[in-house]
Amino acid sequence: MDITDGALYQNSVKILEDAGKIINCDPNILNRLKKPKRALIVSVPVRMDDGSVKVYTGYRVQHSMTLGPGKGGIRYHMGVDLSEVAGLAMLMTFKNSLLNLPLGGAKGGITVDPTVLSRAELQRMTRRYTSEISNIIGPDKDIPAPDVGTNPQTMAWLMDTYSQEVGFAVPGVVTGKPIEVGGSLGREGATGMGVVFCMEEACKKLNYRFDDTLTIAVQGFGNVGSHAALYSHQRGARVIAVSDVDGGIYNKNGLDIPKLIAHFKAKKTLDGFENAEKITNEELLCLDVKALIPAALDGAINAKLAEKIKTKLIIEGANGPCTAEAGALLVSRGVKIIPDILANGGGVIVSYFEWVQGVSSYFWGEDEVNAKLHTAITSAFHKVWNFSETHKISMRLAAMSCSIQRLEKAMLLRGLYPQ
Ligand code: NAD
Repeated sequence: MDITDGALYQNSVKILEDAGKIINCDPNILNRLKKPKRALIVSVPVRMDDGSVKVYTGYRVQHSMTLGPGKGGIRYHMGVDLSEVAGLAMLMTFKNSLLNLPLGGAKGGITVDPTVLSRAELQRMTRRYTSEISNIIGPDKDIPAPDVGTNPQTMAWLMDTYSQEVGFAVPGVVTGKPIEVGGSLGREGATGMGVVFCMEEACKKLNYRFDDTLTIAVQGFGNVGSHAALYSHQRGARVIAVSDVDGGIYNKNGLDIPKLIAHFKAKKTLDGFENAEKITNEELLCLDVKALIPAALDGAINAKLAEKIKTKLIIEGANGPCTAEAGALLVSRGVKIIPDILANGGGVIVSYFEWVQGVSSYFWGEDEVNAKLHTAITSAFHKVWNFSETHKISMRLAAMSCSIQRLEKAMLLRGLYPQ
């Protein structure tokens, strides 16, 4: 597969071109942004518990480092391939630029189903992958973080392996670490919290009350989805449906999310939760709710499904959950989509805070982290909203336009080496 073949990559290039027209971007800059700076493919041989050896394929793509070190998550999933990782790395460049962070864009992953590996196998795979990519990552070069299928424990193994190789502890090589090894308070729930902060601002603009009348459906009950559901519930909204890869549950009067999280932790399934009926992922996405939060994988909402979607507000917790066609169709029907590079930016904002705290060895309280997150993401929200109103364009196009405006200036100032 060529790096540019995947749908996510092509969608990202298309929106980049559209935004380029809006801001009249230098064509040389646009051409440079269409290709990643560097892509590494590695073979990851792993000793399995039964003594056999399996060989997985891993990737790390650095799309741009104009604004600072590369930054982006590591995904363990069977759908991972070079083009998907490159498309996600590109989205990270745009996200970090939009959010005014001093960071470039990168992404990594392994094509694997982590749910079928034992803890020991996962650890050995993570350590070998880290060793294979260690020459291109580092606290000043490229800083990974969790994504689908990875978590703080994965980051601790990554940090330890890198530290063993260089001979001293380097907590700044990853973010999303456990608190005990230099993580930040508030990081674990930060993406979900950022989603909810964006939803609050959108509700103010749309004159929706943020109370029991705000019905919400959340697709995906992992890091992003479960925290988005929890913070929505805690702030008084009514989460009526959630789902994961095996399907969803629904109660029109609202689900008790803290209880559901406890149930999910204990049973590893949403099934069997009190006072809830089963629902499919498709039914969930088409519910007549005030707000829909897709927080699973990219491409979850395609054009066929978009025809049936009833909500008027979508907050993209996942990266690329609406295909380009679906997005265009929904916008033409008056649906407000708060795009991924804005809505799920809470994770990378607090990753940046974690990095800053680590570098200065001075750690902040959770309230301070959350307050700083609120300031950063709501200011980005209003920048994008105002741009979208002024230019009469979608929030996605506005977000991309604001993002590449900053990148263009920085790239022109740094110039091309050699001239
Ligand atoms: P996760 O692995 O913790 O959770 C993923 C969830 O999606 C799980 O509940 C899984 O069951 C569900 N899922 C998987 N396939 C599905 C399918 N076909 N249908 C329905 N549900 C399905 O991952 P996460 O970290 O929560 O990431 C979710 C999305 O958010 C991804 O697009 C990721 O790139 C994006 N994101 C994550 C972060 C972060 O901080 N974790 C930050 C920004 C963006």
